[in-house]
Amino acid sequence: MLGSFNITFDYFSITLLLGGFTALLSGFVVFIHNRKKAENIAWLLSNLTSAIWSFGYFAMINARTHDFAMWSNWILHMASIYVPVFYFLSVAFITNTFHLYRKQILASAFVGFIFLFFVPTTWYVTDVIPKAHFNFVCDAGPLYIYYTIYFFAVVLYALLLVFRKLKSETDSIQIQRYKYIILFTIFGFAGGGSVFFLTFNIPILPYPLILFALYPAVSGYAIFRYQLFDVKVIATELLVFVIWISFLVRIITSNSINDRLINITLLLFMIVAGIFLIRSVIKEIKLREHIQKLATDLERANQDLANANNRLKELDQLKSEFLSLATHQIRGPLTAIKGYASLLLEGDYGKIPVKARNAVQVMFNSTQNLVVIVNEFLDISRIEQGRMKYDMVDFDMNTLVTDIVTELKPMIDKAQLSADIIVDKHNPCEVHADMGKIKQVVGNLIDNSIKYTPQGGITVSVLKENKKVRIQIKDTGIGIAQDDVSKLFAKFSRAKDAFRTNVIGTGLGLYVAKQMIEAQGGKVWVESEGLGKGSTFYIELPEKSV
Ligand code: ADP
Repeated sequence: MLGSFNITFDYFSITLLLGGFTALLSGFVVFIHNRKKAENIAWLLSNLTSAIWSFGYFAMINARTHDFAMWSNWILHMASIYVPVFYFLSVAFITNTFHLYRKQILASAFVGFIFLFFVPTTWYVTDVIPKAHFNFVCDAGPLYIYYTIYFFAVVLYALLLVFRKLKSETDSIQIQRYKYIILFTIFGFAGGGSVFFLTFNIPILPYPLILFALYPAVSGYAIFRYQLFDVKVIATELLVFVIWISFLVRIITSNSINDRLINITLLLFMIVAGIFLIRSVIKEIKLREHIQKLATDLERANQDLANANNRLKELDQLKSEFLSLATHQIRGPLTAIKGYASLLLEGDYGKIPVKARNAVQVMFNSTQNLVVIVNEFLDISRIEQGRMKYDMVDFDMNTLVTDIVTELKPMIDKAQLSADIIVDKHNPCEVHADMGKIKQVVGNLIDNSIKYTPQGGITVSVLKENKKVRIQIKDTGIGIAQDDVSKLFAKFSRAKDAFRTNVIGTGLGLYVAKQMIEAQGGKVWVESEGLGKGSTFYIELPEKSV
């Protein structure tokens, strides 16, 4: 076998050998990494054909005999015809566009198949003859120009595909990936393609072959192994590689033993240093991949959280709708029960025995409580669905509060509590608000004071201060523990021992009050010196602007 060669280890032979070996390495490393992935198989095929071409070319230019050079020429061409096809296939898989380019890939494979038949004929390569300082180089036959056109047309078409993907891509990592595919393609085909000149007897020696030698190593490594691209990383590896090759060339071309020894030592040193450098770069990439993964995981978790939150909002909305529907349905029958109980009590259906009367009275009171609860639920569902309407009018707070207290007087009396009202009749406190809702809130707060004050009294006052109108409801009741003060206005919130004084209670009244007052630009709060020391509730609304 070796007898068939007359090897000159010059720049061209070395780069061809190196290119062939690195192509094999790159193809197999990727393939072994994941043997089932279509893009890896295509990558292996394209590197395998490149390697066969590279070794074939090496064999041809270093052949001793014409016959051996001719055989080498056939083999290298049979492989090189399929280099662009497999390259196209790889690109289509990597860019996920195989389904779009299937026909074009098949067409290029078919054209290549036809060329295969012509390889052993003189139509294709007329002969292998000495050219430049090479032992043998192929000489183009009449068909060769068509093969050349086919070769570069397929490569350019595939390259355009990558350009197109690059334009429409928004993901930054993917963009980097495409940019490097373009770069490696130019490396590989500009390097390998430089041998076409000699075939057509154009006196340009294939110096760019070094690019071909570099492309499989760098591209294979970067595209499949790390997927993450970084100019710095690629540049480091290129540098290390170029340094190694240049030392190798210097060793081979050294004139003296001394020179050669120095170069060998330097190369060994550079191999170790280079490996360290590349290793640290790999470490850095792994770290970055890890961080990238964490970031993606975080993003996904955030997305899940956002989805869950939306779902919760939907459920909350559904709950409010259900509440609104259910309470509406309950209100009708309740009104009927309350109405008939009231008629019974008033004797509209004749005199009722005392025993029955008590029972009807309990029925009436309970229904009355239920109506309050149902109304609170309805208010809440309206507030939460944003359906609560405010009918804003101008009115005097002094008059409204006096009316409310007058209306509630019978209840206050019944609870045996005193009631004081402090308003300045000559100094009206005008506000712009929803009178009905203010009445409801103030009524509710006074009602609470009655419920939570076993003895003593209630003082309601209205005053004007700093362009604000303030209503103050002060009682001598059970008071509020310091811990509870800040919590009472929350939904369903009741003080720990509220049930002792007022068994029925939902903890919704103050929540509704707060929502309604704040929606009208006001404030509501409570102050208490502690348990057993009474409480004072405040409502503040902006004074009507003149
Ligand atoms: P409910 O009275 O139905 O429980 P509210 O929302 O109206 O609901 O009141 C919430 C809680 O605030 C009550 O359970 C009670 O603990 C406390 N509270 C309200 N008003 C007073 C008051 N005047 N004195 C003492 N505690 C009060």
